[in-house]
Amino acid sequence: MNLSNTSKVCRKVKKILNDRTPLKKDCGTLCGKACCKGDSETGMLLFPGETTDLNIKNEGGFRLAVCNGKCNRDERPISCMFFPLFPTLDKNNKIKTVPDFRGYGLCPLVRHADEIEFSKRYLNAVRRAAEILVKNEECRDFILSVTEIINDSKKMIDTFTGGTENV
Ligand code: SF4
Ligand code: SF4
Repeated sequence: MNLSNTSKVCRKVKKILNDRTPLKKDCGTLCGKACCKGDSETGMLLFPGETTDLNIKNEGGFRLAVCNGKCNRDERPISCMFFPLFPTLDKNNKIKTVPDFRGYGLCPLVRHADEIEFSKRYLNAVRRAAEILVKNEECRDFILSVTEIINDSKKMIDTFTGGTENV
């Protein structure tokens, strides 16, 4: 793995995503910032080569940044910058931005993604970031792994709710 190149890719992507927010208004007011109420066990998966000041735990072969609900916002993990959407890869390896169903129980924007008008600047940044990430082999493999996890989460939710919609 060429970590130095992959780290550069991660830094470039963070610059694109950093100041983008899912809605024009602060969505944290809808939910009491539910996605940032971390504890010592939970966190966000880091992309390959992504660096962080947060504590890192190994979980299922991934690096999990554990935040206790606090971080330097400009340095938050890429997964936090993408949330509540995530750029998955479909069967034809095309980027498909979907609600991050891992956060279904947590985030009202995931649960109601089909009714939400996400900020165009945010959607464009997610796509631009994904286009850069998929050109890097390690990051593309990571996105494929997360795609599987998100698809499995969606299947499980569909079993209980009778169906979900994608954005
Ligand atoms: S849980 Fe969802 S709605 Fe709440 S702050 Fe996080 S992204 Fe916004
Ligand atoms: S790392 Fe920061 S942005 Fe991400 S969940 Fe923790 S507090 Fe929220």
